[in-house]
Amino acid sequence: MGSLSGESGWVSVRKKPVVVTAMLLTDDYFNRPPDAVQHIPGLRCNPETHEAVIPTLEGDMTAHIGDWIICGVQGEFYPCDPDIFAATYEPAREGDCWLCDGCNRWFPAETERVGHECDLCPECARREAGVEGGE
Ligand SMILES: [Zn+2]
Repeated sequence: MGSLSGESGWVSVRKKPVVVTAMLLTDDYFNRPPDAVQHIPGLRCNPETHEAVIPTLEGDMTAHIGDWIICGVQGEFYPCDPDIFAATYEPAREGDCWLCDGCNRWFPAETERVGHECDLCPECARREAGVEGGE
């Protein structure tokens, strides 16, 4: 598969497979926010309408119960309609991703894995180094 530069006219292309992480927004979230979502920067939840407003690069986006919240390859968050989600995504295969022993979140295979006897994401590794450094 060569480079596409130099092509003229219409060519067939396909999206490269990427692994992202996603979480289904459920009713539960509004009763008891899971840790997985609490750290979404700037997330605002309305317990009355059960809407979650997520600031994105394209402006605020609103997620409703039943929507998926996706953490993209740049670490950005955005909501996804369940129909589009079902048509676009499938569970990642073994080897496509790995589980952080620190925060229990899944990361794509290409995310740097730190730690000696355990797998830590860069964020957890930093936190752990900070704790050790403070002693
Ligand atoms: Zn982690």
